[in-house]
Amino acid sequence: MASLEHTHFYERVGPRKTAKLWRCKHPDCTHTLRADLIEGKRSMCECGKRTFIIDAAAMQRRRPKCLMCRDTKEGRAAQSISNLLDVMDLDKETPIEPEGFTE
Ligand SMILES: [Zn+2]
Ligand SMILES: [Zn+2]
Repeated sequence: MASLEHTHFYERVGPRKTAKLWRCKHPDCTHTLRADLIEGKRSMCECGKRTFIIDAAAMQRRRPKCLMCRDTKEGRAAQSISNLLDVMDLDKETPIEPEGFTE
């Protein structure tokens, strides 16, 4: 069914250590995947804006998130780079001042 073509929204079924299955939580999708095959698969993030590849860090969560939605050091670094690119796109005349990046 063509209408079902989508990037799966993977969600782990069961606790982290013993889960044997991941499923897609799209309402019209019955796709499941064995837990030992999930790593390296592309999933849609809950934000619905970005897809990402499920890695070991993402597998820690029942509902993995894209890098931009993760509250981790790597996620925040990706967010600040994205913000920087946004700024550069919106106003190319704005000088980039390193001291503006202290948290
Ligand atoms: Zn699906
Ligand atoms: Zn996201």
